[in-house]
Amino acid sequence: MPLKFPFRARRESYPPDLWTQCPGCGQMLFNKHLDRDLRVCAACGHHFRLTATARLAQLLDPGTFSERDEGLIPVDPISFVDSRAYADRLEAARTATGLRDAAVWGFGSIEGRRVAICVLDFGFMGGSMGSVVGEKVARAAEGALAESLPLIIVSSSGGARMQEGTLALMQLVITLGALDRLRAAGVPFVSVMADPTTGGVFASFASVGDVNLAEPNALIGFAGARVSAGTIADELPPGFQRSEFLLSHGFIDRIVHRSALRAELARILGYLAPAGGGSGSGTREASRG
Ligand SMILES: [Zn+2]
Repeated sequence: MPLKFPFRARRESYPPDLWTQCPGCGQMLFNKHLDRDLRVCAACGHHFRLTATARLAQLLDPGTFSERDEGLIPVDPISFVDSRAYADRLEAARTATGLRDAAVWGFGSIEGRRVAICVLDFGFMGGSMGSVVGEKVARAAEGALAESLPLIIVSSSGGARMQEGTLALMQLVITLGALDRLRAAGVPFVSVMADPTTGGVFASFASVGDVNLAEPNALIGFAGARVSAGTIADELPPGFQRSEFLLSHGFIDRIVHRSALRAELARILGYLAPAGGGSGSGTREASRG
């Protein structure tokens, strides 16, 4: 049961390793309960961002994930420096997240169905797509194609990683090319858009799933609201670039609460890949019968 948190002055009495304040409703949530609830606020339904590790743990059957290409690391081809050197940002992100870059991919099972899965982690430089993220998305698609397994990508990203310049922009083409080969072979791809899915990630692989799902109230779109309003020289409609707005305009297929996401993916995979994917799953189906 979440506790009421009416007075700002009392916040200091909540140790941050034990409590998190919900940005949706302001209530203080006990971290253990928040984790138990898949990091969704029990009071207002706000979906907190997830690490790649937590996302994989929530979606996949326990012990089934085998990561691929975990050793891929980005280079700093143009020695980019803004307020801080790109190399320093990478090092800080690695220390903070324990990841080598913002994407993790591999094979695993969802309710017994084997899939290729790639998950973006917003905690690593805003989940931005440089050469490693693009490469991992492409390799996940190639892995799905090689094994004839459905592909699932869970996005949470601010877009292309400007620190890699043109190399980051090239990832739009690389990822879409790999997904195009997947589509030509008739292998299903389900895209899940979590908060936020914006910029070059939205404008490339995240928005072209055979089925496009989104978590509730996720920010989804290409340019930010200020730029969009400036471009059309008009006010934006309420809820612009939120899951619910995009669903009502036909841009995404379904909004799925996090607690239902695993079962929903299993159901969709059942429709799109009724044999359960590759030969290994076929054997599983046969052995069940
Ligand atoms: Zn809340």
